[in-house]
Amino acid sequence: MKGLMQDWPLTVMSIIDHANRFHAEREIVTRTVEGPIHRCTYSDIHLRARKCAQALVKLGMKQSDIVATMAWNTHRHMEIWYGIMGLGAVCHTLNPRLFAEQLTYIINHAEDKLIFLDTSFVAVLEGVADTLPDVKGYVIMTDREHMPETSLKNVHCYEDLIDAEDGDFAWADVDENDACGLCYTSGTTGNPKGVLYSHRSNVLHALAANSADALGMRSVDAVLPVVPMFHANAWSITFSAPAAGAKIVMPGANMDGASIYELLDTEGVTVTAAVPTVWLMLLQHLQETGVKLPKLERVIIGGSAAPRTMIEAFERDYGVTVMHAWGMTELSPMGTLGALKAGMEDLSFDEKLDIKVKQGRAIYTVEMKITDDDGKELPSDGVAFGHLMVRGPAMAGAYLKDEGGNILDKDGWFDTGDVATLDPLGFMQITDRAKDVIKSGGEWISSIELENTAVGHPDVVEAAVIGIVHPKWDERPLLIVIAKEGSNLTKEDVLGYMEGKIAKWWMPDDVVFVDEIPHTATGKIQKLTLRQTFKDYTLPTAAAAE
Ligand code: AMP
Repeated sequence: MKGLMQDWPLTVMSIIDHANRFHAEREIVTRTVEGPIHRCTYSDIHLRARKCAQALVKLGMKQSDIVATMAWNTHRHMEIWYGIMGLGAVCHTLNPRLFAEQLTYIINHAEDKLIFLDTSFVAVLEGVADTLPDVKGYVIMTDREHMPETSLKNVHCYEDLIDAEDGDFAWADVDENDACGLCYTSGTTGNPKGVLYSHRSNVLHALAANSADALGMRSVDAVLPVVPMFHANAWSITFSAPAAGAKIVMPGANMDGASIYELLDTEGVTVTAAVPTVWLMLLQHLQETGVKLPKLERVIIGGSAAPRTMIEAFERDYGVTVMHAWGMTELSPMGTLGALKAGMEDLSFDEKLDIKVKQGRAIYTVEMKITDDDGKELPSDGVAFGHLMVRGPAMAGAYLKDEGGNILDKDGWFDTGDVATLDPLGFMQITDRAKDVIKSGGEWISSIELENTAVGHPDVVEAAVIGIVHPKWDERPLLIVIAKEGSNLTKEDVLGYMEGKIAKWWMPDDVVFVDEIPHTATGKIQKLTLRQTFKDYTLPTAAAAE
């Protein structure tokens, strides 16, 4: 028997319609690329998104076309998202930190027809424009006064386009399963692959990601997504915040500690989200200046593992609750968040930290299990670790143009490429990327755990661990460290500090000091490059074993 409920399509336009109808006055505050702080409301975003859709029609765009953006988190970027998606077209977020060849590949692979860009990225696109045959024009996201000189062809000024429209536009009549967003994965191996989100997957994900034990945003909250809109949908915030009626504070191009602090403070931000490197800069700023953040309630940390010392600093020194999160572009992107469960209130601070360093529990809609190399499910005992497999309605079922072929097993599970443990209470802990795990004498060593332990040393700024070939053990860990400026940190200091904090046989065989550790476009340590750099490195323990 069929249910008798209304057939109400889950489209992202319904989100901004809701915000306009019930939270029209709520603010979107932006540190603009031009400099000054800009204030508008959901009502303004709703109107300007419809004007943007009208402008897109005039520029020849139609349903199912792919329209790209290369932009910071700003009110303009947000209204353009809704404008593109509201036309029934697909919004392709470009990561400006990608190399020129990767950008060319992605833009051509997606067959982007038009690119919206911030003035900051004019030079980036000028550098590749000759290699983009499908791109018919560019819209520079500024006003007439700030329009830059450019060699780009068919260039439009965004504010001029918006000024020419009246906003009398009815959202396209789309099917909820139609595509509305496109984001390429970082692709550490092979070409980047396009994850094509649907209206339905984005709406379901926005609802699930904003449940109380997850992002948990309410209408009284002010949220600052430092995580870029070009990195996996800004973790759903540009969808889930308007659904909740929360105020949004957009950081624009400035993500240094002082700039983020200023916005958190002056705008009364209660919830904020970013990768660990951003929080490292903020914590440094807080420590140097001695300022506090009395209004900030929750910090979401994800994208890479949050070190224990970082969680501890936020919670102990600043009274801010840390939610450790894990996700992937393919998951829309939130998979797990680390809210404590009933019965954990009375645990000691350190016991709570033990739980918070884990990546958290699956949000509703995310199914999760760990398996061995033969695909057999491993126990959720918090000890066994294996391949992390997921499935759910907001996860990729295939990549754009079927790149990479069939990505699901026969039961619909997607192999995340991460290695993890699951404990009996449902908390998941990433031990590594499958290809980064160090295989020593048939056992696995977690590079992430070694890195997190090393950065606990007050003179270690950043740490990376890779496996180096070893004649006896196959691989042994090499610890690569950036030391604090002016410190006289030695190998013995670091190893002495780590002793007792990790299993004895996990101790790195050597420590090297470097000035810089390479990062990917989404802020992750580039292990591939490090392995290349240290491919001929001989560990001191290797000679002894031979
Ligand atoms: P991306 O699709 O660029 O967001 O990258 C997804 C990958 O980032 C995951 O498969 C993990 O390897 C890594 N990742 C994301 N969040 C975390 C986290 N909290 N701890 C450890 N790794 C993470």
